[in-house]
Amino acid sequence: MSSAKPQPSGMSWESFEGWKPAEICRRLREVYGPIQPPPPEPVLDSLIRTVLSQHTSASGCQAAWANLRRRFPRWQAVLQAPMAELVRVIRPAGLAWQRARTIRAILQELQQLKAHQSDFSLDFLHDWPTEKALEYLLHFPGVGLKTAACVLLFACGRPVLPVDTHVHRVAQRLGLLPAKCSASKAHQLLGQQVPARWILEFHLQLIRHGRLTCLARRPRCRLCPLAAKCAFWRKIGEFRKNTTNRKAFSFGK
Ligand code: SF4
Repeated sequence: MSSAKPQPSGMSWESFEGWKPAEICRRLREVYGPIQPPPPEPVLDSLIRTVLSQHTSASGCQAAWANLRRRFPRWQAVLQAPMAELVRVIRPAGLAWQRARTIRAILQELQQLKAHQSDFSLDFLHDWPTEKALEYLLHFPGVGLKTAACVLLFACGRPVLPVDTHVHRVAQRLGLLPAKCSASKAHQLLGQQVPARWILEFHLQLIRHGRLTCLARRPRCRLCPLAAKCAFWRKIGEFRKNTTNRKAFSFGK
């Protein structure tokens, strides 16, 4: 990632400065409690589990992961099985053919490295600089920035901020990101502004907030511990002052 700090168009960086990541984490911690990071796991497990988690529910991902490890306790067995068998096993996650192709592509490439190791592994990434490890993960087909960032954060303990749909939405509403902001730009902007020591908690607390309060369709702004400084809530307040159509914005009731 570039070390430059671009300013999002149409906003002053002052609005971000008004939000200290530590303050956001503190307020959300008071409501939702301390974060519970997932237990450590091998880097390859983390990558494949994250592939299964893309665009699906936590329960679908967990069911697919449990099936996968039960049916294939060793990764080598995935390559020896027919593709249709892999698809059947991971079906609870949805998009099974697409995910199966990604998993097979990752394992096929690692098979060549396996000649020097006892089993398939990506644990060598622990010894690589973060930028190099990120680039390496991104070269696998079907592995995007969010997936690679999750692996580096959770499995390798690197200060890389994954921006999923909840983090993106909440950060945008708070005014931490410009209204129009691609996923890669959001990774860049938030990654540059959230200090390394807050990245894990910031990521996990914003996901909780997006799931429980800052909902996609009807955010519960009246219950929100961040409302006092939220750009979205401020705009609603201004709108309500200037219009009699108050029913249009009745969030949080
Ligand atoms: S005030 Fe509303 S829009 Fe803003 S962060 Fe809270 S729930 Fe989301």
